[in-house]
Amino acid sequence: MSKVPQPSELSNWYLPGILKGLGYTFTNMVKNILNPKKMSTLNYPEEKYKYSARFKGNHILTVKKDGSLRCTACMLCATNCPAQCISITASEHEDPTVEKYPINYEIDILRCVFCGFCEEACPVDAIRMGPEWQTPGLAGADFHYDIKKLAYRANLKGGIQSSVDDKERHEAGI
Ligand code: SF4
Ligand code: SF4
Repeated sequence: MSKVPQPSELSNWYLPGILKGLGYTFTNMVKNILNPKKMSTLNYPEEKYKYSARFKGNHILTVKKDGSLRCTACMLCATNCPAQCISITASEHEDPTVEKYPINYEIDILRCVFCGFCEEACPVDAIRMGPEWQTPGLAGADFHYDIKKLAYRANLKGGIQSSVDDKERHEAGI
């Protein structure tokens, strides 16, 4: 049977490790003070990291030209969501050319894994994942994103228009 290696006398003392760690911290502190441009950290929240245009952050429900929701309440996003965090309540629309629409669309963002499957599954460009990633909140309810938050939050400035055009769709018989 092979002999189990025993820790050396020195490794039983925490002090060398602590001094080594402090030395490393101190060296980097001096480097950062002398050359702040080379710091590998950011002064958050004043400075923010710029993610790529493909970054999948907070969801956006897109709108039509008239400002109403693009979503047709087909449930494909909810069906494909691996975290099962999308809940939709569909209703009939007054307009006979619109089959149905969501009277409630909610995402439990604390359960969301930001996989993007909802965006991929949507056949009408009604849900997108935008560049926002900061989601502070004080209560659980702050993390249940409803239609107001998903489509009409202030920074969307009236909503993001879908690239799908209804006129073109009707002409194409879709
Ligand atoms: S990003 Fe993924 S987990 Fe989040 S709502 Fe969409 S499908 Fe669900
Ligand atoms: S967001 Fe897209 S996939 Fe989800 S219910 Fe609406 S139309 Fe269907």
